[in-house]
Order: sequence, then C-alpha cells, then structure tokens
Amino acid sequence: MEIIRTPRIMKETSKRLLTQGKTLGLVPTMGALHGGHLFLFKVAKGENDVVVASIFVNPAQFGPSEDFDKYPKDLESDIMKLESAGADILFVPEVPAMYPEGFSTYIGVRGLSDRLCGAFRPGHFEGVATVVCKFFNLALPTRAYFGQKDFQQAQIIKRMTKDLNMSVECITCATVRENDGLAMSSRNRYLSPEEREAAAVVYKSLKSAAHMVKDGVMPASVTEHMNVMLKSEPLVSEVQYAGVYNPETFEESVLPEKKYLLAVAVKMGNTRLIDNILVEI
Ligand code: AMP
Repeated sequence: MEIIRTPRIMKETSKRLLTQGKTLGLVPTMGALHGGHLFLFKVAKGENDVVVASIFVNPAQFGPSEDFDKYPKDLESDIMKLESAGADILFVPEVPAMYPEGFSTYIGVRGLSDRLCGAFRPGHFEGVATVVCKFFNLALPTRAYFGQKDFQQAQIIKRMTKDLNMSVECITCATVRENDGLAMSSRNRYLSPEEREAAAVVYKSLKSAAHMVKDGVMPASVTEHMNVMLKSEPLVSEVQYAGVYNPETFEESVLPEKKYLLAVAVKMGNTRLIDNILVEI
C-alpha cells in the first residue's frame, strides 16, 4: 500500500491512474478503523481497480466543546488493517496541508444540514461537506463509499455532488453491528463496560420502532415509544433525538408514509451515539 501525505501528490497519482483507464474507489474515514470501515473497503475493492482510503480527523466538523482533541488515533494499527483489507493507497494529510493559512471556502448544504444531528452540532455538516469536496478534488474518485450509520451525512454528500455537478458516484453501504446490535463506531471505545452493555438499547429501540411502524402504528406513537424506551435506560444521559422521519427531508413523519427513517442520537455520559434504520412499508 502506498502512503501519501501531500495533497498535490494525491492528485497527481489519481490523475495518472485515471489516464491509465483505472477506476478509483475512495473511502473517507477519520481512522481508528473498525469492522464498519472494513466493510466499506471490501465493497469498494469489489467495484474499483484501485481503492484509496483516507484518514483525516477533520477539525472543521467538530464543535468547540466536542472531542476533536481526544478523537482516537491509531495510525499504525490502521495501516495494518488497511493492508489486510487490500487498500492500494492511503491518503493521510496533515491539518495545515488541508487548511492552509487563508482558507475561507466552506460548503453549506442547506435544509438537510439543519435537522437531526445538524440541530445539535452546528457547523458539523458544513465541515463534512467541505472536507469531502476537497477529498473528491484530490483523489478524483470514480466512486465514493459511505456508511448508512451516518445516513444524514451520506444524503448530504449525495445532494452536494448532484447540486455541484460532481461526477463521483456516492454509494451508501449497510451498517455493520456488534453481536448485540450496537453499530460499530470509533467512539464506542469511549464507553465504560457498563455503558457499552447499556448501549444496546439504541438498536433495540430502533428494532422495536420498526415492528411498530410495520404494524401500522402512527409515527407519533412510535416516536413516543422510542423516547420512553431510551429514557428508561439510566445510563442514557440525554436523548438528543429519537423518532420517525422522512428519509428524503428528515422532517418528522406525522402521517403514514411508504418509507421511514427511524433515527436516534443519545449521549451515554460524554459519548454521543447515533444509529438509524430505514423501513419500507
Ligand atoms: P468515520 O471514520 O466515523 O468518519 O466513518 C467513516 C465512514 O465509515 C463513514 O462513511 C461512516 O458512515 C462509515 N461507518 C462508520 N461506522 C460504520 C458502521 N458501523 N457500518 C458501516 N459504515 C460505517
């Protein structure tokens, strides 16, 4: 696996590969890789000639009181995982190379960015869209792979590529879970053993909500049920949102619809956990 640290070299490498007629699959990550990331590499590997992984903890997407400084970093072990996942190139730029002095262009995807996680993390999706746009301009991917765990992020990036006439195809891959249903996440390592056990309630609330909407229960009642379930777990310190949403607009569903996004964001102590499932009736 080739390791590239300089944006200019990343772009030159991708240009050369494209000239050779190769397809490039990009998997952007913040590192501390787990089974969820590895699944994205596997899918990318199956669909492209060359797989580019990026690892970059993007300061622009963290709020001032968030975990940017203590976000888990484990580059050596990430490199080994990427080697065995068959990634061809690792792009791992430093912050000043991505945001040099004078940097002042940010991408805002209106509407979609304000709801759900956006309501609790002001500026987060602007940071995400900006860095992903930069990665697209540097790695010149044919396809880019995102996880459904961050469904809102995946939809915002799809919107951005459409609105800005970008030619990359964005693919959303299924969420990979632990045995008890907890969605794999780099942040799960912050959880104490007791919190880790209790965290299973997040997926349980989604599964239970899925049964209810399939049985024709009205969205408002399902939302109430999810909130009661999550709040009854003493180690859940805050329910930021939990409910039934329109997967296109992220507005709360009021009337029966054909497709629902069931989504949750909670805090367990200082750790923020999100998860979702899509249900088609
Ligand atoms: P992150 O490193 O957390 O920024 O995640 C990088 C990519 O991996 C994003 O597209 C995430 O949606 C995706 N991802 C994170 N966790 C999972 C998971 N459990 N299953 C599938 N994809 C995931």
